[in-house]
Amino acid sequence: MKREITEPNTLQIYDTLSRQLAGVHSSDGESIRIYCCGPTVYRDAHVGNLRTFLLGDLVKRALEFSGYKVRLIQNITDVGHMSDDFEEDKMLSQSKLEKRDPFAIARDYESKFHADLAALNILPADKYPRASECIDLMIEHIKKLIAMDYAYIGDDDSVYFSAAKFESYGELSGNRLDALKPGHRYEYSEGGAKRFHADWALWKSAGNRTEMIWPTPWGKGFPGWHIECSAMSLHYLDGHIDLHIGGIDLRFPHHENERAQSNPLVTASADSSEAVSLWLHGEHLLFEGRKMSKSAGNVVLVKDVLQRGIDPLAVRFCFLENRYRSQMDLSWASINAAFSTLQRWREKYQKWRDVGATETARARDLVEAMLLDFLNDLDTPRAMLKLRAVEKDLEFQDQERAYIFEMVDELFGLKLLELPGRELTEELIELLEQRNLARSAKDFARSDELRDLLLNKGIEVRDTSTGQSWKWIKF
Ligand code: AMP
Ligand code: ZN
Repeated sequence: MKREITEPNTLQIYDTLSRQLAGVHSSDGESIRIYCCGPTVYRDAHVGNLRTFLLGDLVKRALEFSGYKVRLIQNITDVGHMSDDFEEDKMLSQSKLEKRDPFAIARDYESKFHADLAALNILPADKYPRASECIDLMIEHIKKLIAMDYAYIGDDDSVYFSAAKFESYGELSGNRLDALKPGHRYEYSEGGAKRFHADWALWKSAGNRTEMIWPTPWGKGFPGWHIECSAMSLHYLDGHIDLHIGGIDLRFPHHENERAQSNPLVTASADSSEAVSLWLHGEHLLFEGRKMSKSAGNVVLVKDVLQRGIDPLAVRFCFLENRYRSQMDLSWASINAAFSTLQRWREKYQKWRDVGATETARARDLVEAMLLDFLNDLDTPRAMLKLRAVEKDLEFQDQERAYIFEMVDELFGLKLLELPGRELTEELIELLEQRNLARSAKDFARSDELRDLLLNKGIEVRDTSTGQSWKWIKF
């Protein structure tokens, strides 16, 4: 249920650039234009990545619940993201490992990414442009930077951004140019073709690379990672970004460089010469004390949660109990506890609503107070305390409890009003059938994809000597 705007309440967030709380506003008076850095699709997204993607969803829900129109763009990085040792494109390393076409890998992980978002009830963006399909936009952007003298073609035919030319370089991350020593490994190496150690490649010449390369006026090659977000955000959001979102590790160099690449192309207005009005960064997720990452070996995937018979929305529940800009530690114990609370609430709601949901002044006040918590720099832990009080507070009648749950369900996105069904719908029958066919045809990629999709919907499929069998999992 949406609420009409009665006063100019808007979302306040902590802006990384100005280092203070700031209101999120629409600069065109029509919609709030948001860009959120998306996944690099060479592997499964872990729930740490999903915590960052959830940030875009929470912003969108808080704004839409307050009556604002939101336009959200999230990119899919399927080329140009170099591995941490700066040697190779992450997509191409994976392609070698799996002995498969890099684009086939990218499309598989992209569809898994969408399934993971759905499992956490993360609202879809308006568009998910792929880097490999926006090469023209990047080339046009780079041409303009060269014409304006912000970029130059190096001896190796790569194109570099001239960091020193952008005077406020470093303001976003605090890494000022004079402090960035040569040899600092924050950008892949260029064998001395750069004029200045802090310059970075907008475009890399192909060298020995034969896959994922494109022609340009300065030779064949492939884009750097940062340029894709500048080119796509300005293009798909019509020249200005009201709010830019990403994980804290993207603040430098990714967003610092993006700001330097984007600002020269926007026309300075009376208010600002910034392409991005506000920068929002989410803190990292730890798992049992350490940052969740593939290299730390502690990743948890949505699939792992499902395999334990737990609704992935229990993970969303845990995330909501922590503020986005604090590190948070997740554990199986906290996921299990969240799951049992979530299920209890869902069951109770089914009883509360029997007597009919009833609006009262105090119930309305509580709903309003929860929204204000969201608008106050996404203070979801405080909003969750209020949600917990709905069940426990003896002051409330069941009818009011039902009313509150119905009002706030879209804000929290926890699917409080549903008990996961046990009915085999037409859609599920069709999916089981397709999975069976894919397996018989030995189309293992498709049959694995369908198995994951069914798992997401609460059905575990097994292959036996007599064919495919399935059962409902716990939630
Ligand atoms: P990637 O697919 O590696 O480009 O990462 C996608 C997003 O996940 C980026 O915005 C990262 O900042 C974010 N991210 C990576 N690790 C974590 C973590 N442990 N917790 C929260 N966000 C993360
Ligand atoms: Zn980005």
